[in-house]
Amino acid sequence: MENKTPEEVAEVLESIWTLQEQETATLDRVIQNAPIKVTDGLIDRLGAEGFLAVDAEKNVRLLPKGRELAEQIIRRHRLAERLMCDALGAPVDEIEVAACEYEHLLAEGITNSICTLLGHPRYCPHNKPIPEGDCCRQARDELKPIVVSCDQLRIGESARVAYFCAREHSRLLKLSALGISPGMSLKLIQKWPAYVVQCEETEIALEPDVAKNIYVWRN
Ligand SMILES: [Zn+2]
Ligand SMILES: [Zn+2]
Repeated sequence: MENKTPEEVAEVLESIWTLQEQETATLDRVIQNAPIKVTDGLIDRLGAEGFLAVDAEKNVRLLPKGRELAEQIIRRHRLAERLMCDALGAPVDEIEVAACEYEHLLAEGITNSICTLLGHPRYCPHNKPIPEGDCCRQARDELKPIVVSCDQLRIGESARVAYFCAREHSRLLKLSALGISPGMSLKLIQKWPAYVVQCEETEIALEPDVAKNIYVWRN
């Protein structure tokens, strides 16, 4: 149902949410901040439908219905940013446009799968908080993140490689050159003086910051 939210409604709610993280959302700022043309008619309609309220000073605030929807949109947007940044290694300044596309496309089930794959991240690459989903609450209750960085494994523990968290493409290539790629099983052999993992029949030594950037599914 949420995916049928008209784009202009989504953009207005997202604009209000983002503003409210830093300041009071005035009507003028919401109009400036939204990437689409926001008409009085649209604001009136969203008011009438119970998404938002505008007070006498022209301050805009989200009502529970609008807040709930905005939270989901922001969650999808910021998770899409994390996905592109961490798993695909895209530079932070190039992810904005694609994240805007994703936020309209991702269905709830997929959003939670991506969140789980990324280890329920709390912040987007711009350091803005990612609203929690059911998957995050569940993972916290179970007290065991399923995806962890390789350096958090116990010695002797096996896991399957989920993704690499590498900012630069060259770094990703280096990781692949070591013979490690997503989907492979590995086992942590030692942590000191260097991390050593066994991947298929090969033992591979890893620098600590490389080990921290390999994310694995715990078995
Ligand atoms: Zn962000
Ligand atoms: Zn989650």
